[in-house]
Amino acid sequence: MKGLKSAALAAALLMAGAAVASECPGNPHAIGTSRTIVVDTFEHPRLGGMQYHESLPLEDHEVVLTFDDGPLAGRTNHVLETLAHECVRATFFLVGEMATNYPDVVRKIEAAGHTIGTHSQSHPLWFHKVPPAQAEEEISRGIASVTTVLGEPPAPFFRIPGLRRTDIIDQYLASQKPTTWSADFVADDWTKISPSQVYGRALRRIEAKGKGILLLHDIQARTVEALPALLHELNRRGYHIVHVVPATPDQPKTATAPTEWIVHMHAHQIQPASIFDAEHTAVPPVPEPATSQAVPTAPRLAPQDLSTANISHGQSRKAAVKCAVPVHILWMTYCN
Ligand SMILES: [Zn+2]
Repeated sequence: MKGLKSAALAAALLMAGAAVASECPGNPHAIGTSRTIVVDTFEHPRLGGMQYHESLPLEDHEVVLTFDDGPLAGRTNHVLETLAHECVRATFFLVGEMATNYPDVVRKIEAAGHTIGTHSQSHPLWFHKVPPAQAEEEISRGIASVTTVLGEPPAPFFRIPGLRRTDIIDQYLASQKPTTWSADFVADDWTKISPSQVYGRALRRIEAKGKGILLLHDIQARTVEALPALLHELNRRGYHIVHVVPATPDQPKTATAPTEWIVHMHAHQIQPASIFDAEHTAVPPVPEPATSQAVPTAPRLAPQDLSTANISHGQSRKAAVKCAVPVHILWMTYCN
């Protein structure tokens, strides 16, 4: 009986694998998008175990990818290429000013079927110290900027810049009815570390919890470089990528039990202070010299090449990124 069950399970897994492969032409090894969770933002105002008591109702070995601070033409385009190659759908939390500067990239993100949320208008670094009226304006102007580019409102998903929440900010957001997204793990990709460190930290933290929301930054060269290998390795280790969208009148919420959303704290859980300390002490990247070299395509590692050692250590590749990034966001990225 047990054997029969195992055989049935193996067959089901094979069929699931076949489905992913057929849905991802040209890449039989794609990790794919295993399912979509539809969130009722009224029922779930805050998500992410790093700061809140609820996170997404994920099964073990399910990961949700999120990208903050973009779009930035060269970098975000490479992230989009990698996600397309792996048939993965993610959520992008866009900065209003960046969306205005790179409207074509915003439309590319939308055309690829990713979810678009917002991340304030100008990404104030000390969001928790901004006067409430200014914080509210940052939130609403960010949504307005992205709405202008898309021609329709983005998803009612918001991520607070730097995750610097306060009770006042959380209460205001709850009154506006978006879902405020924190995360379950970060990869420190906004700090001056190598692509292999981004890869290693993401994997280590995902493995420690087994499931959750990963926070990355599509404007970072180290993230662009680490992402293909990270997705390959997650696939090899049996993880699945889940896409998240908001409920609409045409798209009802995913049926779940309330208990599935509750975060169970673990001793090894990263506390919010870790993020804040990391950001406070983060060394702003040194701008790289200008180069006319085209941005190379993100590496596609063969399965046998999946190891940390195969991601370049040290400096990230130079990228000819045309930068229209406001000065106060410059610390977050390399701009040539
Ligand atoms: Zn940010």
